[in-house]
Amino acid sequence: MNERTQVTDATPIKTLPDAQTVTEVQHYTDRLFRFRVTRPASLRFRSGEFVMIGLMGDPDPKTGKQKPLLRAYSIASPSWDEELEFYSIKVQDGPLTSKLQHIKPGDQLILRPKPVGTLVHDALLPGKRLWFFATGTGIAPFASLIRDPQTYSDYDQVILTHTCRDVAELTYGRELVESLKSDEMLGELLEGGQDKLVYYPTTTRERSPKMGRITTRLEDGTVFRDLGIDGITPGTDRAMVCGSMGLNTDLKRILEGFGLREGANSEPAEYVVEKAFVG
Ligand SMILES: Cc1cc2nc3c(=O)[nH]c(=O)nc-3n(C[C@H](O)[C@H](O)[C@H](O)COP(=O)(O)OP(=O)(O)OC[C@H]3O[C@@H](n4cnc5c(N)ncnc54)[C@H](O)[C@@H]3O)c2cc1C
Repeated sequence: MNERTQVTDATPIKTLPDAQTVTEVQHYTDRLFRFRVTRPASLRFRSGEFVMIGLMGDPDPKTGKQKPLLRAYSIASPSWDEELEFYSIKVQDGPLTSKLQHIKPGDQLILRPKPVGTLVHDALLPGKRLWFFATGTGIAPFASLIRDPQTYSDYDQVILTHTCRDVAELTYGRELVESLKSDEMLGELLEGGQDKLVYYPTTTRERSPKMGRITTRLEDGTVFRDLGIDGITPGTDRAMVCGSMGLNTDLKRILEGFGLREGANSEPAEYVVEKAFVG
């Protein structure tokens, strides 16, 4: 499955509170899709941040009133993009995504224009090499950051690791990384050094060239051998992590074992973490 629908020159029709109009939808698997929406003129955000988006919920059986059904979503597009992109799971009995998975170009969704988050450049101290560790839809904030020129001006090398169960679940990230090489603005920045952006996909279920959890590959040194890198050190390396609770906990332990400390917007350090979802 790789279906794509698109509209051009979408004009937002403001009937919902904070309404934005869907401009493009692309389905990757029965569990994953990407969509783009119009961007509110006043919305400023830092690449890597998230916002609350959603749809109107079902009418209350007693009062008939409808309330917005909102969920946190990382903005997958970079801060300079004139539209907003999101990369989403489809949870079949999920209150929001059971409906959201059926959106089409021209439909509206609600977007609360209050971006927040810790996966931002400001939360890290300067370094030479930046690691993005993602599982599943946790690649969304990094889809934003790998399209931000600041990422390449701040670091000599950027390594994006993405772990999914099956190969098809890697498609969004793989196609995005491939598209950057021919991108007018970013292509030139990526040529600057050899392997400026390194893509390191792994799968945990379906066979692929790199099998297994990223945590195992870090702990046994496979990642470093594959990439010809000595290891991770607080002097040179910075990291951003976005995955399930389990992955985040394990990676925190591993990164701290390498001597990195967790940072925040208020106190930048060597790594930052955010949940890709709750539960
Ligand atoms: C900071 C933050 C950023 C987020 N960014 C994104 C994003 O960019 N894309 C995205 O798809 N979701 C993202 N989420 C999750 C999102 O908020 C919703 O949980 C998701 O859209 C499902 O909503 P729902 O109402 O259908 O089901 P919910 O009731 O919210 O979730 C039902 C169950 O589905 C599972 N689940 C929910 N989201 C995911 C997921 N992304 N991957 C795997 N399993 C999941 C969990 O087990 C959860 O308990 C983010 C969550 C947080 C906290």
